[in-house]
Amino acid sequence: MNLLIFGPPGAGKGTQSIHVAKKFDIRHISTGDLFRENIKNGTTLGKEAQGYMNRGELVPDELTIRMLESALNDNEKSGFILDGFPRTVAQAEALQRLLELRHQKLDKVLVLKVENDVIVKRLSGRRVCQKCGEVYHMSSRPTQVSGICDKCGSDQLTRRSDDEPAVILKRLETFWAQTAPVKAFYEKLGLVREINGDQQEQGVLASIESELAR
Ligand code: AMP
Repeated sequence: MNLLIFGPPGAGKGTQSIHVAKKFDIRHISTGDLFRENIKNGTTLGKEAQGYMNRGELVPDELTIRMLESALNDNEKSGFILDGFPRTVAQAEALQRLLELRHQKLDKVLVLKVENDVIVKRLSGRRVCQKCGEVYHMSSRPTQVSGICDKCGSDQLTRRSDDEPAVILKRLETFWAQTAPVKAFYEKLGLVREINGDQQEQGVLASIESELAR
């Protein structure tokens, strides 16, 4: 099964992708995570991407598509869920070409619908463990012991640099200007399935599962 999860920043794409990948034993490919990994490892790609990310802008298509192509080549499982890609119509077109070359296709595009004010609240409360990458939320998904990661015990829980309020607003603006048209691209292909993203984590997952069971 090849899926794509789509929605504005803070819609819950990352969280839901992790659940879906585990449940269906498919690979979770997040371009945001791949960029952050490159930044952490100090690669040339990471250095090129960092400025764009810090400003809440999109990394240029050429770099992003090349990175995605190599991630698709590395796919050791029989399916994937793409998270954070495509973010432009040019990326969506490139993805179609890459999949065709591999005799693959997308089965469904899950579109998470969430209002802007909910998104700002979600992103500003998000905290990430610097050691193991586990994601928390100050109010909806707090750690059991304040400031300590439940998974690895680290006390390094920080806000992503692009979750600062000014950058959040810029990311939302970028989404509506450059990324929202991607939905229409997949609507034309009849692949879009809308999911109410404004529910508790488990509720969203249940909606996704019932959509995928159809
Ligand atoms: P995310 O973790 O998906 O919110 O992505 C964080 C940041 O990485 C975005 O704000 C962009 O700067 C960059 N990024 C991730 N995926 C893409 C993409 N498909 N195209 C361009 N930039 C991207």
